Amino acid sequence: MNCIFCGIADGSIKSQLVYEDEDVVAFKDLNPQAPTHLLIIPRKHIARLSEADEKDALLLGKILLVAKKLAQQFDLKDFRLVTNNGKGAGQSVDHLHFHLMAGRRFLWPAG
Ligand code: 5GP
Ligand code: ZN
Repeated sequence: MNCIFCGIADGSIKSQLVYEDEDVVAFKDLNPQAPTHLLIIPRKHIARLSEADEKDALLLGKILLVAKKLAQQFDLKDFRLVTNNGKGAGQSVDHLHFHLMAGRRFLWPAG
Protein backbone atom coordinates (compact mmCIF):
# COMPACT_ATOMS: atom_id res chain seq x y z
CA MET A 1 0.00 0.00 0.00
CA ASN A 2 1.29 3.42 -0.90
CA CYS A 3 0.18 5.67 1.95
CA ILE A 4 1.97 8.93 2.84
CA PHE A 5 0.79 8.89 6.46
CA CYS A 6 1.81 5.24 6.99
CA GLY A 7 5.22 6.38 5.70
CA ILE A 8 5.28 9.24 8.20
CA ALA A 9 4.23 6.88 11.00
CA ASP A 10 7.00 4.38 10.21
CA GLY A 11 9.61 7.11 9.68
CA SER A 12 10.25 6.38 6.00
CA ILE A 13 8.75 9.77 5.04
CA LYS A 14 10.12 12.84 6.82
CA SER A 15 7.88 15.06 8.89
CA GLN A 16 8.09 17.39 11.85
CA LEU A 17 6.88 15.03 14.56
CA VAL A 18 5.44 16.61 17.67
CA TYR A 19 4.20 13.45 19.41
CA GLU A 20 4.47 9.68 19.12
CA ASP A 21 3.59 6.63 21.14
CA GLU A 22 2.93 3.00 20.24
CA ASP A 23 -0.47 3.80 18.69
CA VAL A 24 -0.60 7.46 17.73
CA VAL A 25 1.64 9.94 15.87
CA ALA A 26 1.26 13.72 15.48
CA PHE A 27 3.16 16.04 13.16
CA LYS A 28 3.01 19.51 11.63
CA ASP A 29 0.88 19.91 8.53
CA LEU A 30 3.00 20.56 5.42
CA ASN A 31 0.62 23.29 4.25
CA PRO A 32 -0.65 24.91 7.46
CA GLN A 33 -4.04 26.62 7.39
CA ALA A 34 -3.57 28.25 10.81
CA PRO A 35 -0.59 29.41 12.91
CA THR A 36 -0.74 26.04 14.67
CA HIS A 37 -1.82 23.18 12.41
CA LEU A 38 -1.03 19.65 13.55
CA LEU A 39 -2.22 16.30 12.23
CA ILE A 40 -2.93 13.45 14.63
CA ILE A 41 -3.10 9.95 13.17
CA PRO A 42 -3.33 6.34 14.31
CA ARG A 43 -0.31 4.22 13.31
CA LYS A 44 -2.84 1.67 12.12
CA HIS A 45 -4.03 2.34 8.59
CA ILE A 46 -7.72 3.23 8.76
CA ALA A 47 -8.75 5.08 5.60
CA ARG A 48 -11.33 7.31 7.28
CA LEU A 49 -13.52 7.48 10.35
CA SER A 50 -16.33 5.65 8.57
CA GLU A 51 -13.98 2.66 8.19
CA ALA A 52 -13.25 2.42 11.91
CA ASP A 53 -15.09 -0.19 13.95
CA GLU A 54 -15.77 -1.20 17.56
CA LYS A 55 -12.27 -2.67 17.89
CA ASP A 56 -10.88 0.83 17.35
CA ALA A 57 -12.78 2.42 20.25
CA LEU A 58 -9.76 2.68 22.55
CA LEU A 59 -7.55 3.98 19.74
CA LEU A 60 -10.07 6.68 18.80
CA GLY A 61 -10.36 7.77 22.42
CA LYS A 62 -6.60 7.90 22.68
CA ILE A 63 -6.41 10.23 19.68
CA LEU A 64 -8.75 12.68 21.41
CA LEU A 65 -6.63 12.60 24.55
CA VAL A 66 -3.48 13.18 22.47
CA ALA A 67 -5.24 16.23 21.01
CA LYS A 68 -5.90 17.49 24.52
CA LYS A 69 -2.28 16.83 25.54
CA LEU A 70 -0.94 18.68 22.49
CA ALA A 71 -3.27 21.61 23.14
CA GLN A 72 -1.80 21.86 26.63
CA GLN A 73 1.75 21.42 25.39
CA PHE A 74 1.36 24.10 22.71
CA ASP A 75 -0.50 26.32 25.16
CA LEU A 76 -3.61 26.47 22.99
CA LYS A 77 -6.61 27.86 24.81
CA ASP A 78 -9.04 27.69 21.91
CA PHE A 79 -8.58 25.21 19.11
CA ARG A 80 -10.45 23.32 16.41
CA LEU A 81 -10.22 19.55 15.97
CA VAL A 82 -11.65 18.25 12.71
CA THR A 83 -11.60 15.22 10.46
CA ASN A 84 -12.64 15.31 6.82
CA ASN A 85 -14.40 12.05 5.98
CA GLY A 86 -14.43 11.43 2.23
CA LYS A 87 -13.56 13.51 -0.85
CA GLY A 88 -16.77 15.51 -0.70
CA ALA A 89 -15.86 16.63 2.83
CA GLY A 90 -12.37 17.67 1.73
CA GLN A 91 -10.37 14.53 2.53
CA SER A 92 -7.26 14.34 0.33
CA VAL A 93 -5.16 11.74 2.21
CA ASP A 94 -6.80 8.36 2.72
CA HIS A 95 -5.43 7.65 6.20
CA LEU A 96 -7.55 8.78 9.15
CA HIS A 97 -6.27 12.07 10.54
CA PHE A 98 -7.51 14.80 12.82
CA HIS A 99 -6.53 18.40 12.16
CA LEU A 100 -5.68 20.28 15.36
CA MET A 101 -5.72 23.97 14.46
CA ALA A 102 -5.34 27.13 16.49
CA GLY A 103 -4.08 30.68 16.51
CA ARG A 104 -6.68 32.44 14.39
CA ARG A 105 -10.43 33.00 14.37
CA PHE A 106 -12.47 30.16 12.91
CA LEU A 107 -15.79 30.53 11.17
CA TRP A 108 -18.82 28.43 12.00
CA PRO A 109 -20.22 26.63 10.16
CA ALA A 110 -16.86 25.56 8.71
CA GLY A 111 -16.50 26.48 5.03
P1 5GP B 1 -7.27 16.33 4.34
O1 5GP B 1 -7.45 17.27 3.18
O2 5GP B 1 -7.14 14.89 3.85
O3 5GP B 1 -8.28 16.49 5.43
O4 5GP B 1 -5.89 16.72 5.00
C1 5GP B 1 -4.66 16.25 4.55
C2 5GP B 1 -3.62 17.16 5.09
O5 5GP B 1 -2.36 16.54 4.97
C3 5GP B 1 -3.50 18.51 4.36
O6 5GP B 1 -3.73 19.57 5.29
C4 5GP B 1 -2.10 18.51 3.79
O7 5GP B 1 -1.48 19.78 3.85
C5 5GP B 1 -1.39 17.49 4.67
N1 5GP B 1 -0.33 16.76 4.00
C6 5GP B 1 -0.38 16.15 2.79
N2 5GP B 1 0.78 15.52 2.52
C7 5GP B 1 1.59 15.75 3.58
C8 5GP B 1 2.93 15.35 3.89
O8 5GP B 1 3.61 14.66 3.13
N3 5GP B 1 3.43 15.78 5.07
C9 5GP B 1 2.71 16.55 5.95
N4 5GP B 1 3.31 16.92 7.08
N5 5GP B 1 1.44 16.92 5.69
C10 5GP B 1 0.89 16.53 4.53
ZN1 ZN C 1 -1.90 4.72 5.90
